[in-house]
Amino acid sequence: MDSRPESSETQRNKCAACFRQYNKKEHLVEHMRVSFHSLHEPKCGICMKHCRSFDSLREHLIGPLPKIECAKAFNNGGCSLCLNVFDGPHALRIHRRTCQLSNTASSLVSRMSRLGLQNSTDIDPRAQGARLVALACKMVGGGSDGSLNICARVCLIDEDESIVFHSYVRPQIPVTNYRHETTGISPEHLKDAMPIKLAQKKIQDFLCNGEPLWKIRYRGERARILVGHRLDHDLESLGIEYPQILLRDTATYPPLMKTSKLSNSLKYLTQAYLGYEILTRVQDPYEECVAAMRLYSRMRGQSHGGDYASGSGEAQIRNSFAPWKQRELERMSPEELLQISGSDYYCWCLDS
Ligand SMILES: [Zn+2]
Ligand SMILES: [Zn+2]
Ligand SMILES: [Zn+2]
Ligand SMILES: [Zn+2]
Repeated sequence: MDSRPESSETQRNKCAACFRQYNKKEHLVEHMRVSFHSLHEPKCGICMKHCRSFDSLREHLIGPLPKIECAKAFNNGGCSLCLNVFDGPHALRIHRRTCQLSNTASSLVSRMSRLGLQNSTDIDPRAQGARLVALACKMVGGGSDGSLNICARVCLIDEDESIVFHSYVRPQIPVTNYRHETTGISPEHLKDAMPIKLAQKKIQDFLCNGEPLWKIRYRGERARILVGHRLDHDLESLGIEYPQILLRDTATYPPLMKTSKLSNSLKYLTQAYLGYEILTRVQDPYEECVAAMRLYSRMRGQSHGGDYASGSGEAQIRNSFAPWKQRELERMSPEELLQISGSDYYCWCLDS
């Protein structure tokens, strides 16, 4: 911690979002140019500091080296899942009833598998109206050393966690490692399973919902939003092409990433932000779909209010922090600089 007394000069050059201080105004302007602060960033409910991710907010509030005053207030009424602060232990207890979720998913699936309902050969027609779906695949190993990931099981759910499609799929190349211990998949499951090409077509058609890909890229209206964790892997293993603008990936969403800007595992995110364990024994794609969908709903449900410099960052930054405006920018207060700063990612609250 820096214990030097703050001069009025450094106070004037203190970032209004992350509170970093600069000796020179031009350095603060440069910081704003590259940091893409916005009201969409996770914020400390006590000191209002902006953080890049919930993990860094967690560090700020809980440790290992938290900000002392914030940690104290958080201790009295802070929710360790959503990191919001409430008026004392009673209000917190009431809040936790809705914030803390439990793993009802796996018991549902085991019930269904007993009834033999796990394999659907078609997209559930009741899902036609779904605007939002979550996808997860389970991979087995291919190639001479079994290290090639190939999709052998796929699940799609809607926003109510109802199964839209859930099937084993037969890969086009031989499976050399069933990874049975974690996937629960054995040769019998794949023997008469749906060929992957057919599953691919069904899922692609369902996602596009009657719109051609070029139109979705440009301005999709009917195509569905796809939620998941590491969707690039799942889509690649299925051979499905889908536009980035409709993907909501919990592995690459900046607020859910590590402070080091690497991805978190779905297991960690579910434990840290929803409060329950997944993938304890055999990995079920339904369980993963549910976790990703719930994380998405949490993120989308946040109210970020107001609207400073809304819109996506890059165009925004080019407009607001253009080098030719340097002199003008250096005359602005830290608060004014924050006002014209914009996010460099699409905040999911904008979906609601
Ligand atoms: Zn800052
Ligand atoms: Zn937002
Ligand atoms: Zn704080
Ligand atoms: Zn909470």
